[in-house]
Amino acid sequence: RDSCVSDSSDSVISSGSDSEGQVYKVVLLGEQGVGKSSLARIFGGVEDVHDCDETGNTYDRSIEVDEEEASILLYDIWEQDNSQWLKEQCMRIGDAYIIVYSVTDKSSFEKASELRIQLRRARQSENIPIILVGNKSDLVRSREVSVDEGSACAVVFDCKFIETSANLHHNVRDLFEGMVRQIRLRKDSKEE
Ligand code: GDP
Ligand code: MG
Repeated sequence: RDSCVSDSSDSVISSGSDSEGQVYKVVLLGEQGVGKSSLARIFGGVEDVHDCDETGNTYDRSIEVDEEEASILLYDIWEQDNSQWLKEQCMRIGDAYIIVYSVTDKSSFEKASELRIQLRRARQSENIPIILVGNKSDLVRSREVSVDEGSACAVVFDCKFIETSANLHHNVRDLFEGMVRQIRLRKDSKEE
């Protein structure tokens, strides 16, 4: 179990040492099996991704983006249990959201839209950064959702879009860096 729990001991600066001492809470949403935990473990720097089957984890890490450290607390807890309470908490706690679907699973794509609507309802007046992620882009032959469908959906839902492959580690770094930039952008515009 312990092998799954990451901390920030491998980074020079640990949580809370962002320039303003702020830790950004980022929540992963999406149907089961789309790759949330795989993406989270890459973010958390967990080496042996096949070694753990955790259903609820948070990862605490600082990453450097544009020459500035950002402290992120990433929540992979959406499926930890099925309680309505947990779902509501998830919708409430995030400073930013990553909504994941699998490009090989149309229904997970439809579910992503539902989650986007739920999120909008829960946080009506807030302008929270959301990134729509089409994962498993390596599975070319079983693709059911095209890149165009993904990006069109992101336009409709006013969020960013990226395709990733957790298996190949493709675009995963871009995803988390992009997320930090989104958080900073919205934060700056709020302060003006
Ligand atoms: P979760 O239920 O959303 O947390 O999804 P998991 O991270 O547990 O992944 C579900 C399954 O999909 C696992 O067998 C992963 O190895 C596999 N998987 C996750 N990401 C990818 C990917 O980018 N490509 C491929 N081919 N398989 C993936
Ligand atoms: Mg999982």
